[in-house]
Amino acid sequence: MHPKVAAAYDSLYNCKPYVGPLVSNRHGILRTNGFEATFDGILGERAFIAVMQIMSRANHSCKPNTKSCRQKYQATYTASRDIAPGEEITVTYIDETRPKAERRKELKTKYFFTCTCELCGPA
Ligand SMILES: [Zn+2]
Repeated sequence: MHPKVAAAYDSLYNCKPYVGPLVSNRHGILRTNGFEATFDGILGERAFIAVMQIMSRANHSCKPNTKSCRQKYQATYTASRDIAPGEEITVTYIDETRPKAERRKELKTKYFFTCTCELCGPA
């Protein structure tokens, strides 16, 4: 891995708990920020995890300002409302239509944080 790519990768957040000597910080970063990707027909019907240089940096909100779309060989975020210059780009990691308590429980269980987004409010 090129040193600049490695530095960018290593700067991503790792929310996964340490689980033993065989699991590295880079593996945790992969599990935290990766997107499932399938490449049917190229390598069979296998699933892979891809970490994107920009997309993997988007944080969660239960009231995100983008919609994500994944197609066979690409993934995109599209603004779902006007986004002000300098405003954080947000996505949802979960089904944001569920009640707050359920959203918070899922986020705590899977991603180890308490959501304090505009919709959830303070912890
Ligand atoms: Zn929230």
